[in-house]
This record gives sequence, C-alpha cells and structure tokens, in this order.
Amino acid sequence: MDINILERNKPLILVVDDELVGRLYIEKALQSEGYEVITAENGQQALDLVREHSPSMIVMDVMMPVMDGYDACAAIREQEDQLQVPILMLTGLDDIESVEKSFDAGASDFIVKPVNLPIFKQRVRHGLKTRESDLELYKHQLRQAHAHKVAKMGYWDWDLETNKLYWSAEVYNLLSVSPDEFDTNQEAFKARIYDDDLEKVKHATQQSLKHGFPYSVEHRVARPDQKLQVVHQHAELIKNDQGKVIRMLGIVQDMTERYLAQEKIQHQVYYDSLTDLPNRTLFHDRLDHALDMPGRTDNSVAILTIDLDRFKNINDSLGHEVGDSFLKAVADNLKKATRTTDTLARLGGDEFALIIEGISSDECVSRIANKLLETLSQPHYINGQELISTGSIGIAVSSLDSCDKDMLIKQANLAMKHAKEIGGNQFCLYNEEMKSRAHQTLIMEKELRYALERGEFIVYYQPKVCVATGKIKGMEALIRWQHPEKGLVPPFSFIPVAEDTGLIVPIGKWVLEEASRQTKLWHEQGFNDLVVSVNVSVKQFHHQAFVDEVKHALKNSGLAARYLDLEITESCTMNNLDSVISFLTTFRKMGISISLDDFGTGFSSLSILDQLPLDTLKVDRAFIKDIIAGGENGDLARLIIAMAKSLQLSLVAEGVETQDHLDFLKSNGCDEYQGFFLSPPVPADQFGELLAANNRLANNLECLI
Ligand code: C2E
Ligand code: MG
Ligand code: MG
Repeated sequence: MDINILERNKPLILVVDDELVGRLYIEKALQSEGYEVITAENGQQALDLVREHSPSMIVMDVMMPVMDGYDACAAIREQEDQLQVPILMLTGLDDIESVEKSFDAGASDFIVKPVNLPIFKQRVRHGLKTRESDLELYKHQLRQAHAHKVAKMGYWDWDLETNKLYWSAEVYNLLSVSPDEFDTNQEAFKARIYDDDLEKVKHATQQSLKHGFPYSVEHRVARPDQKLQVVHQHAELIKNDQGKVIRMLGIVQDMTERYLAQEKIQHQVYYDSLTDLPNRTLFHDRLDHALDMPGRTDNSVAILTIDLDRFKNINDSLGHEVGDSFLKAVADNLKKATRTTDTLARLGGDEFALIIEGISSDECVSRIANKLLETLSQPHYINGQELISTGSIGIAVSSLDSCDKDMLIKQANLAMKHAKEIGGNQFCLYNEEMKSRAHQTLIMEKELRYALERGEFIVYYQPKVCVATGKIKGMEALIRWQHPEKGLVPPFSFIPVAEDTGLIVPIGKWVLEEASRQTKLWHEQGFNDLVVSVNVSVKQFHHQAFVDEVKHALKNSGLAARYLDLEITESCTMNNLDSVISFLTTFRKMGISISLDDFGTGFSSLSILDQLPLDTLKVDRAFIKDIIAGGENGDLARLIIAMAKSLQLSLVAEGVETQDHLDFLKSNGCDEYQGFFLSPPVPADQFGELLAANNRLANNLECLI
C-alpha cells in the first residue's frame, strides 16, 4: 500500500448506509466533529471506495441491499494486508446475533441503532485512536522491512522447545523460496545450506549452544537455480531463568556481492588481467612453495623464463590491441602445452615463466623446452594477419646445494639472455660460464662509468664517398674505447651495456660535441663542405634535454647545423613514434639532416618509414655482402635499393669492400657509399691525411678532364 495515501490532515470516514436519512444524520454528526466524510449506499460501493481512498475508519450499517454489512466487512478484511481499518458496525437493538456475526466478519466495534450521538462520537474517537497507533506500527514495520530489503538482511527466531522457526519476509526473499514451499523449522533451514558448508554451520551452532555464546558464520546457499549465493549469519541465544537456552535469534545477510568483489580483488592480486595466468606475485609464492617442499631430495625444480623474440615489432608496428591479442593467443598455446601441475606465469610484457616440479634430469627439462619452442613458433591469425614470434628460453634447475629462489631466477634470466644473444628461438641451460660473463658485464658497467671522466673514449671517422666521383662528402663518427688494459674496445661490446645502464646518454653527448668540434676544425683547414654523421641511440630520444644538447654541441663548436647528420635506427621509432617524429621535425627545422641507419634489417613497414622526416637511407652492409662479382646475385640488394628509392630519399650503401660492390652501386643508382674499400674508420689525424689525399686525387682528375 502507498503509505502517502494514509498520511492526511483530517481523518477520512466512510459512512455506509442504504437509508438516506440515517446516512445524512451520521454524516453531519461526523462533519461537526471536523472529520472528512464520504458515503456509500451499500457494501459493494463501500468496497470500491475503500480501495480508492483507504479511509481512516468505516461506519457501516448491517442490513443493506446488494451487499450487506457482514459480506462487505469480510471483503474489506480480505483485501487488506497488515493494516486493518477500524469498522464500526451499526446493529439493531439487542441483536446479539448480528453483533456476533459482525465480529466474525472482522468488525472492530459495534453500536446499536438508533444511535446515541455522544456515545457514537466517543466510539469513533476511540476507533481513530486505535487506527493512529496501528498506522504508526504499520509505518514502522514498513520502514524496517524496507531497511532489511536494502541491507539484504532477514531475521529468524528459533524456538528450541517447539522447534518452530520464524523467518522474516526477507529471509524468504534471500533464500528464494516462498512461504508455502517450506515448513518453517530448523530442517527446512538446513536444507538451504550448501552441502560443503553444512558441517561448518552445524559446528558453529553446536559450539554456540554448548558454550552459550553467540555465533557468526558465513556460508553458501543451496539454491534451486544453482547460482552462487553467500550469506552471513549471526545468532544470539536467549536463556530462561535457569540459564537454559530456549531460543535463538539470528540475522541472515546476503554477502554475495561483497564475496564476489573480494574474490575479484584476490584474483587481480594474483593473476594477470590480460592472459589470466598467474602473475609475478603468485609465481614467487608458488616457487617458494615448490622449493620448500619437504622431502624434495631426488627431484629438482626447474624454472624456465621465456621471452618472445621480436614481440616489440608486432606491438609497435601493428598497435597495442593486436599486440595484446597476440600475447593472449601465445599464453593460451603455452598453457595447453604445459601440465596443470606446472605453474605458467606472465611476469610482464612478453615475459613468461614456468615452474616445473619433479625434474629428474636435464634431458627431461630439455624435452619440455623444445616442446615450448615448437609451440611458440606456431603462427597466430589476428585481424586477418598471420603473426609469428619465436621465443628464447632460459633454464635454471635447483639442486640440493642451490635452491635459493632469487638466485635461480637470476640464473634462468641469464640463460634466457644468452639464448637471445645467440640468435633466439632456442633454449639455454644455465651454466657457470654465463655467470662469469654476467660478472664481466658488471665490471664493464663500473669501468664505463669512469671511462668518460678519464677521457678513454676516442672518435674514429669513416669516409662517406660519392659513388659517381669518389669524392669524400663527409664521414661517420664511430666511437672507440681505449681501455687501459684491454686496448681498443669496439662499440658492439660496450654500447649495449651503455644503453642498458643509461650511460649512453652522457657518452652520446660527448661524441656529438667531439665530432662537431673536429668537423669544424676540418672546415677551417679548407675541407669546407664535410658533413658529419653521428649515431644516436634510442635512449637519447627518451631524454628530454636531447634537443638542447644538440644545439649546445653546434653552438660550442661553431659548426653550422647543415653539416650535422643524425643517424637513427628503426629501434628509435619503436614505442614512441610520435615523440620521435616531433624530435626529428625539430632537428630538420634547425637544418640538421636525418639518416636511417641499417636500412633493411628492421621490421618497420614502409608506411611507418614514410611518416618519418628523413633525408637519407643507409642500406645495411648485409645486402651489399650479397653482391658477388658478375652482377648475377644481389637481387636482395636491388630490391632493397628499389624500396629505398620508392621512399624518394638519398641512398648510402654501407660495407662496400670491393670494386664489384662499387660497380654494382654505380649501375643501380646509389648516391654515396661507406666501406673498407676506401677506408675503415680511422682516428682523426689519419682521416685528415685521407681527406688531403682524396682532395689531391680529385684535383688531378679535374686536370685530366
Ligand atoms: P653503424 O652505425 O652501422 O656503423 C657502421 C659499422 O660498420 C661500423 O662498425 C663500421 O666499422 C662498420 N663498417 C664500415 N665499413 C665496413 C665494411 O666495409 N665492412 C665491414 N665488415 N664493416 C664495415 P663499428 O664502428 O664497429 O660500429 C658498430 C656500431 O656501433 C655502429 O653501426 C653503430 O650502430 C654503433 N656505434 C658506433 N659509434 C656509436 C656512437 O657514437 N653512438 C652510438 N649510439 N652508437 C654507435
Ligand atoms: Mg651508423
Ligand atoms: Mg649501419
């Protein structure tokens, strides 16, 4: 019932009488008391008005046509819920039978006709007073029921002596049963408890009864629709004067949402959201557990760290969505290839790890690693494209004297890095030699930190020559490390370490300044138009001050920007294409030219290269090597040159070692070359001599022409 209709300023009284005079008489009397009055001529009309107006009280005659007062009274009671309207029946004088009949039909009071007005008014006041307190109680119950509904909470009352159980309406709601479906006794209640939780609830109840303490228990509900439902029960005991427990009062509250939220949070703490594999935290937990297993004497635990080769290319060239789908597909495949007893985890990015317990030999783990490699190399079809990425696997196996978790993980990672370094798509078992190599790297890291301060770096220069005329147009600055004990260290053995440690940033800055200074010097010596190319590491692009550093190097040396060329590799464009484009655009606006180094070895699509503001492509020497005397071969070089030309950029060939290479480049329209054919990279003084010799040659040629 709508509670608002019951809230009124003046009581509304329905007067039901078929006799007009009697009706008017009562109506007037009630109005004179300040009540509002509505009237009906018979029981049927009365019923309709009750439905429509919910009056505060009814005064009704017994004898009426169509529907008499008894039937009307019974019908009104029938349609009411908890709140009953007071019905004052008008009966004949001393008509005991009709009085009884009225009460049986549900009347609240009676008064005999002819009506004695003062007594009648008294009875009405009394009826309205009852009504008022009934209404208050009703509103209170409604509010309580509403609160229970909102809190998803019901209460019960169990009489232990009669085994009768009272359930509030909300308990029925919570347990999804209707009152007539179940007997309200303890057995019916138990039947709604999920089988696996029954013991727990029984135990809590028994303990509570035994010790006389309240109990709280959380359990699942056995629902006919099999849906998960979790409720919390709390019960208090009522004792009699002798201290005997005679009743139990309890509340039941629905906890399903909280339970599911907790489960979800728990899941997020331990599982990777993309692949749903255990994450790093759970991986560590499981590894601790595996290594701590009592009685683990014969069998070892193996850790396999798995890293995808070239996943970054997929991610960077096709976007993160495709990258994510690919990782999911890889995770699913790996999952299928492993036993349920093994833990396959995603540690982050494209890095996975597997814990295998019960390893009896290296052969056994090698077999598993081979199976994983095979799985990893399977193609995936995403957005209509076939994508493949092989993997590199590092393995470390625990032994009785080596079962430290962190050490094992480190070993597996070292082995994985080694597998990658030697070409990927393979697995490596950790061995002591790797440890010493890792140790060497650590030492190098330390030494590199001091190398700059101690002035141990030198810049070598390799000429860049015009294919058509043989004239040196510029040079590439290539760093060397003059190590106090090891001698001249080539860049490939220290640049990766410098990049890993971030030391490449100050080192790169130094090369830039040194190369600019030296070039300006050569300009002043008359070699006017030399352009110097300086290699830039991807790490320098992540460094905000990079543009300022370049400006500073030019300003300090006095070299004009058009004589500086920056060599970037495709790896610079990975991850942050937009910011690299903005860097490059700034440089080109300054007048600096940009070359893409090692062209042909990267994986960027032509569409990505097309977006880069480039001036020159440097065809990697791997393609020049392919050219063999006679021009029969070199298809690949031709193809790569054609691709480069389609981007309409100037072309430099790297690694030109023979006359045949040069002839090939001449006939295929390459602009410049670099290579041992003219000169390897040399120190600045030697390069100066080379420039002088090249100049003399050019002058001689001009004289000849
Ligand atoms: P890169 O930029 O592709 O440099 C060309 C490499 O090819 C040089 O190796 C050069 O000595 C070598 N090379 C040139 N002509 C020939 C040839 O005819 N045959 C053969 N087999 N090789 C030839 P280098 O100097 O050892 O440098 C290796 C790489 O180290 C460079 O490749 C570049 O990526 C990096 N690097 C060198 N200096 C720097 C630097 O200052 N900063 C950064 N970030 N990287 C540098
Ligand atoms: Mg280069
Ligand atoms: Mg190169």
